[in-house]
Amino acid sequence: MHFARYPAEAMDATPEITRFAPSPTGYLHLGHARAALFAWRRARATGGRFLLRIEDVDTMRCRPEYEAALLEDLRWLGLDWDEAPRRQSAHFDEYREVLDGLAARGLVYPCFCTRADIAREMAAAGAAPQGPDGPLYPGICRDLPEAEAARRIAGGEPHALRLHMARACEAVSRPLPAYEENEGWHECRPEVFGDVVLGRKDVPVSYHLCVTHDDALQRITLVTRGDDLKPATDVHRLIQALMGWPVPRYAHHPLMRDAAGRRLAKRDGAESLRTLRGKGISAAEVRAMVEAP
Ligand code: GLU
Repeated sequence: MHFARYPAEAMDATPEITRFAPSPTGYLHLGHARAALFAWRRARATGGRFLLRIEDVDTMRCRPEYEAALLEDLRWLGLDWDEAPRRQSAHFDEYREVLDGLAARGLVYPCFCTRADIAREMAAAGAAPQGPDGPLYPGICRDLPEAEAARRIAGGEPHALRLHMARACEAVSRPLPAYEENEGWHECRPEVFGDVVLGRKDVPVSYHLCVTHDDALQRITLVTRGDDLKPATDVHRLIQALMGWPVPRYAHHPLMRDAAGRRLAKRDGAESLRTLRGKGISAAEVRAMVEAP
């Protein structure tokens, strides 16, 4: 890690607007502390702004008590933020509007497939092409007649909304450059993801859509996050081009790993910040742990 040296280096840089965007599905652990501090330092070191965004569109998995706990944990860590946190679940109508606009342009389509439908189709086709997030959607619903799709929707059949990747790529001018700090410009290739889901069956939107919408709305200048999300930038860059949204720069940082080299994850029981606090570890010690070079 090398971001602890940013404050000195970045002092005369342009003010950055950064954000930390956790999902309240559990208690924050050291990985979150690293991400939050990384974003906060960049804003503070440049005289910019640091925003907190609660990514809680998955209302089944997110819980208010985790949200309250994360605010408390971030304050304990010594972080402050510049305006009231934006809570995504209060803005479903805004995401809906974007999806409706893309649908009107023929760039998203309803997909009624279950996981089993997709698995069957892939087995029948033999080898399934792989994307960064797993096998590519085989396109079962891509060319459904409009009348059939409308009838199934009217009948209440659950459906996701998928981006028609080929059409979306045709609708924007190429190349699609993105700037990654410490690496420079690279060309995005969103087509390797295939027809990604922009509206889920269980939740009316998806991470890709909300995150790009909100980064644009909040005028984020530098998107910072763990490098597990780096590949997703290519999809985000395409959405920005489709929507005419501003394009931030990106700084992906290494994830926190355990002694065995595994990334810390809530589901694997990574120790939460509050557990560490309960053991008498101070905020300064936590900061040192996550910012150590
Ligand atoms: N909400 C995402 C997460 O908790 C982070 C999104 C982002 O920083 O782009 O993993």
